[in-house]
Amino acid sequence: MSFPRDFFQCFQISCQGATSITTFACFLCDKIQPALHQAVYERTAKDIAEDMRGKFPDFQGNRANLEVFILRYLAEEENFEYFKQYLKFPKEFFQGYIERRVKSHCLDESRRLKKFLDSSLSLLYGNILSAVFLSTQIVKDREDREDKVSLWLDEFCRELSEVISLPRSDLKGIEHQEVTDIEFLKRVMTKVLATLRDRLQEEFSHADMSSFSRQPHTILAEHCSGCWEQCPFCGAVCTNTMQGHDGDHQVVFHRPRAVKGTRWHQTDHLVIDICSSLVASDCSFRIGDNVWIPDKRYRDAGPPCSTWNILPDPSMQAYWKWFVSHFQTQLEALYNRKFQGRGEIPEAWRRITKQEALSELEKP
Ligand SMILES: [Zn+2]
Ligand SMILES: [Zn+2]
Repeated sequence: MSFPRDFFQCFQISCQGATSITTFACFLCDKIQPALHQAVYERTAKDIAEDMRGKFPDFQGNRANLEVFILRYLAEEENFEYFKQYLKFPKEFFQGYIERRVKSHCLDESRRLKKFLDSSLSLLYGNILSAVFLSTQIVKDREDREDKVSLWLDEFCRELSEVISLPRSDLKGIEHQEVTDIEFLKRVMTKVLATLRDRLQEEFSHADMSSFSRQPHTILAEHCSGCWEQCPFCGAVCTNTMQGHDGDHQVVFHRPRAVKGTRWHQTDHLVIDICSSLVASDCSFRIGDNVWIPDKRYRDAGPPCSTWNILPDPSMQAYWKWFVSHFQTQLEALYNRKFQGRGEIPEAWRRITKQEALSELEKP
């Protein structure tokens, strides 16, 4: 967007020096427009992330908290394909989940995106207008200065340094314009800025999420980030809130190994045991062609196994018992293996309702 010369005709500029002022305002607003546009989107992305953190319990804690909501979502959808994606690509699934939540918050029938953009715009527009007034106030009585325009620009850019990116050096082209009537300059700038605001507002009514250079969902995702290493046996994601943390990876709850298709040796029977039970058992697992490692000494298998701290603990979440029972057929088909023999699903698991599984998950 740029301001054509004839755009200023509507101001009926007729006094002396008007051409200089027109050139000046034209040039300056052409510089302000992209900077303001960018600042509005940057601010709005932060506002949206902040608003969602305030409104949705999903985003009010760390990633472990968010994961509870994601598991709830998966259980409610009951779509095995979604589970598959989540189990295989947890990070991508989290990001997709957050992105969908942001999209529906911003673009549903209440069209919050436009409201967020308008409110950022109105704030920033107010800042720019204040800068115009303030610079004018400071410069207009400086009879001692010949270079009023240059001084005006100094003040204007200084005033806006925290608001929009408008380097003073980019405005050298107009700093020698002959403008004597600073009050008149202020009036022209005010009108031009109002038009600029109206144009942006008009643009915002068609805005979608693609207009952000830094997406609100990226900001939210960063807030809920952490270590994304997955347990090499069951795929559970390390619960450490720091990426590249010191020490071993760890999770509170491991999952039945069947979720990754693990089977008992020389059978097609899936393993329903969890890692933290197996490390206390006399079982072994095979790496490569024929190297057997006792589960108790799983670290001997080297990385990535050796980078995990799996403490013996038999507790298994009802959620995964429900999952395995509910999606038995799909899991069997996916891995071409059976829940049989040592992998037979206990009757007690089948009696767990989805509601029970979710209630346990959400217990503080
Ligand atoms: Zn595990
Ligand atoms: Zn970790």
